[in-house]
Amino acid sequence: MDCLFCKIVSGDIGSRQVYADDVAIAFLDIAPWHPGHTLVIPRRHVSDLTAPDALSEIAASVEATAALLRERLRPDGMNLLVNQGAVAGQEVFHFHVHLVPRYERNPGMRNLMTKEPGIDVDEVHRRITG
Ligand code: AMP
Repeated sequence: MDCLFCKIVSGDIGSRQVYADDVAIAFLDIAPWHPGHTLVIPRRHVSDLTAPDALSEIAASVEATAALLRERLRPDGMNLLVNQGAVAGQEVFHFHVHLVPRYERNPGMRNLMTKEPGIDVDEVHRRITG
């Protein structure tokens, strides 16, 4: 199957992984809105939130990843977001949950997708995994 995130699960395409368990993996978004922007995805291919058990299957993985991001990055808050369907902004049709750490310097819902300039994704990855 020609699915970008399946290839990340299999390791055929690299990612900056921050968390993994039996059912899910989590890796840094390649184009982060805020430092530590992470995607949590099921290992099995399900296209979106409408698939049975898509969210419940990875709920514990999402919580564990959020706890890791809080511990390592000490953000002031966090957004959890799922886009379901192209009209809602879904671009990759392998179910994923966005976890977006938030910082006082760039607050509020209106700034959620306002990309902070100059995010060094490798440096953020080292802070989480190092
Ligand atoms: P969505 O719009 O909810 O489908 O989100 C897809 C997300 O995947 C976007 O935030 C992209 O920046 C992110 N993305 C696309 N390709 C990659 C990749 N190879 N590694 C990490 N994140 C990616």
